[in-house]
Amino acid sequence: MRIDIITCLPRLLESPFGDSILKRAQEKNLVTVKVHDLREYSTNKHRTTDDYAFGGGAGMVMMIEPIDRCISALKAERNYDEIIYMSPDGELLSQSIANQLSLKQNLILLCGHYKGVDERVRQHLVTREISIGDYVLSGGELAAAVLADSVIRLLPGVLNDETSALSDSFQDGLIAPPVYTRPAEYKGWNVPEVLLSGHQAKIEEWKQEQSLKRTQERRPDLL
Ligand code: SAH
Repeated sequence: MRIDIITCLPRLLESPFGDSILKRAQEKNLVTVKVHDLREYSTNKHRTTDDYAFGGGAGMVMMIEPIDRCISALKAERNYDEIIYMSPDGELLSQSIANQLSLKQNLILLCGHYKGVDERVRQHLVTREISIGDYVLSGGELAAAVLADSVIRLLPGVLNDETSALSDSFQDGLIAPPVYTRPAEYKGWNVPEVLLSGHQAKIEEWKQEQSLKRTQERRPDLL
């Protein structure tokens, strides 16, 4: 899989992809993540990518031309399955959207900033719009990193234990069961006996019960 991220602030995307699971996924060539600086596609001498809003009002608007030039340059190299604009009024990101996107080959994620992008970008250049929640961020970079993380960890080989992603919350419509590690007793707080029993069938049954209980308590809407 390849993910191209378009931004006017590329530095904001350095650390999310520079560590841990997302870094190793790239080292193992399971995913290629490329960050593109919009300023390099600007045609004016100050390399600006935003301008005042027509009709007035507070806040700058990201111009269509650098975005179009950047997307066109990428599309000339390969076909993209989706060109996604990160936007608070887009479809709400869910595990099922992450699952769906993890089956794609090439994705573009476009990050807005300021008041967002010129509406014509949304009308003519992008194929999909995704929000990470009902709140407003100052830019699309963190949202793009969230989306990319949720997708990349699903790619085969990214997590050490292949089945790990399948046992996470939301994958089977349930919340994940609680997890424990050593020591088995800490300040008198004990790990549930069954987990130490070595009886795999009983352990699985316990996990299933716990998942169901948690879902009922915390997210009855999922049931
Ligand atoms: N004026 C816009 C908000 C702009 S916020 C509005 O009211 O809808 C600036 C940029 O941050 C957006 O262009 C978008 O790319 C990103 N962004 C903000 N909140 C987001 C969210 N919840 N999900 C995804 N992207 C978001």
